[in-house]
Amino acid sequence: MPCLHFLDMKRYKIEIEPKTLHFINPAGTSRGVYRTRQSYFLRLTDAQRCGIEGIGECAPLLDLSCDALPQVEYEERLRHFCNEFEQKGMIDYVAMQDYPSMLFGLETALAQLDAQGSVDLFDTSFGKGNEGITINGLVWMGTFDEMFARLEEKMKAGFRCVKLKIGAIDFERELDLIRHIRTTFSKEQIELRVDANGGFTAAEAMCRLEALAKYDLHSIEQPIRQYQWEAMARLCANTPLPIALDEELIGVNHRERKIELLETICPQYIILKPSLHGGIVGTQEWISLAQERGIGSWITSALESNIGLNAIAQLTAKVYGNDIQMAQGLGTGLLFSDNVPMPLEIRGDKLWIVKQ
Ligand SMILES: [Mg+2]
Repeated sequence: MPCLHFLDMKRYKIEIEPKTLHFINPAGTSRGVYRTRQSYFLRLTDAQRCGIEGIGECAPLLDLSCDALPQVEYEERLRHFCNEFEQKGMIDYVAMQDYPSMLFGLETALAQLDAQGSVDLFDTSFGKGNEGITINGLVWMGTFDEMFARLEEKMKAGFRCVKLKIGAIDFERELDLIRHIRTTFSKEQIELRVDANGGFTAAEAMCRLEALAKYDLHSIEQPIRQYQWEAMARLCANTPLPIALDEELIGVNHRERKIELLETICPQYIILKPSLHGGIVGTQEWISLAQERGIGSWITSALESNIGLNAIAQLTAKVYGNDIQMAQGLGTGLLFSDNVPMPLEIRGDKLWIVKQ
């Protein structure tokens, strides 16, 4: 393609491509059932770097992301930030702080442009296809039989860490399921994480944590709904089972507020979703603020297409380096019937970049 002289045009150009992705199996979450999801791909080009393109994905989650605006408003705001970038050639982190999904898309597009269009965004051994990232298998909510069958499937596929979404069937049945899993598979055979998605009341939560703790679980995500810092702090101080904050971090985008949250609640872990929790820069800030306070973290995807998933995996490899101890929650990319091709592959319980 002939290259236009960069003085005759804006140096940077961003095309926004709306993309509706269709789930192969409708995804049941605490917020209802998703059949499709709306994403936006940003295609960033630079007149000084002809033929190279950086693609990023903005993937807000309806009813969950702090920047999930009504569609027209979202698109207008996104176009505004892209125009600003085209003019200034840099990301305005202050202006974009409260729009994590938009920020993540723009950061990803720029990272790929700076990586000369490679999917190896941050020059890591994962990005080069030399190392895989250990991930957890995810068992969606369902009936007892469905959930147990899905778990066995994950074990057969080679997963050694499985996360169960609880809160869909009644708690006693869920405990039965976990007890049944534990009588079949030991702690050494399978690490179990559960995610309550804020499903317990503050009054019942401690009893439920005690009941769950009998089965050697690794951790529980968000036992009670967010914005109850005092109740959550009490749980974290007394829990027999490590607690990981997830939804609690949504909308907490400023450094001082992050510190306040970590120091008030003192959780055992935080879980980071770059599309929801501050993009690349905001996620890195969360991780280092947590580390300074002895709080662990891991990274998970949030129903992005392969564009977003790759960026999240690359970021994971960058921030945890060769020292990734914990299984990360990087979705398989097998969720959508119309996903974007990407050299990502799961072998056993690791996510790999397949060398070209
Ligand atoms: Mg969660």
